[in-house]
Amino acid sequence: MDLKEYRKKRKFDLTPEPRGSPAPAQKRDGLLVYVTQKHMSSHLHYDFRLEWRGVLLSWAVPKGPSLNPAVKRLAMQTEDHPLDYAKFEGVIPEGQYGAGTVMLWDRGTWQPENADVDASLQKGEIKFTLHGKKLQGSWVLVRTRGFGSNPARSAWLLIKHRDQYASTEDVTQEEPRSAASQHLLAEIARDEGGDVERASVGDPSPKAQRTATAQSASGRIPRRREP
Ligand code: MN
Repeated sequence: MDLKEYRKKRKFDLTPEPRGSPAPAQKRDGLLVYVTQKHMSSHLHYDFRLEWRGVLLSWAVPKGPSLNPAVKRLAMQTEDHPLDYAKFEGVIPEGQYGAGTVMLWDRGTWQPENADVDASLQKGEIKFTLHGKKLQGSWVLVRTRGFGSNPARSAWLLIKHRDQYASTEDVTQEEPRSAASQHLLAEIARDEGGDVERASVGDPSPKAQRTATAQSASGRIPRRREP
């Protein structure tokens, strides 16, 4: 777990993303950071990150997390990110790695449910509790393939466990705004000099938002809509 790959991919004189300062040896509170960033780059995805051993372990979730325990969401492990990245919301300039708009979609802390986190990661099945603004309760990440090859490119599944936070509500549609700024992707792009039209592709249309609310109220599972 280090930031070599993270730094190799980025030009820090061109991107506003953090280079990553050395992790403090002892954090004040002992709590582990959790963050999900909604990232409209070449395609929309959600970057799910858990602090572990001074970095953010990272997975790209193309469809985003689901609160429905019956739904398994593909999560491709990506390079470890610096802890500072948990505060990043903004625009990665055109031509740079991951160019596009990044939103702090959810943030909070996490707690492992396994005693030995390193062994769980190695084994490819880690259970944890999230204390976010949008995602809460018990979850699991299970590795499905890629074991033995490049561990930073393995495919996992992100699954909600059954508990009081499980729901058929489509949380990505119902709660499309930043947990930090309350902004939509288009608003972040507008404020940070990004491509507003491109960013808005990742925001639900006003019509879709109304329909999702109506369907949720009637107890139906809102379907994912194309913007
Ligand atoms: Mn990303």
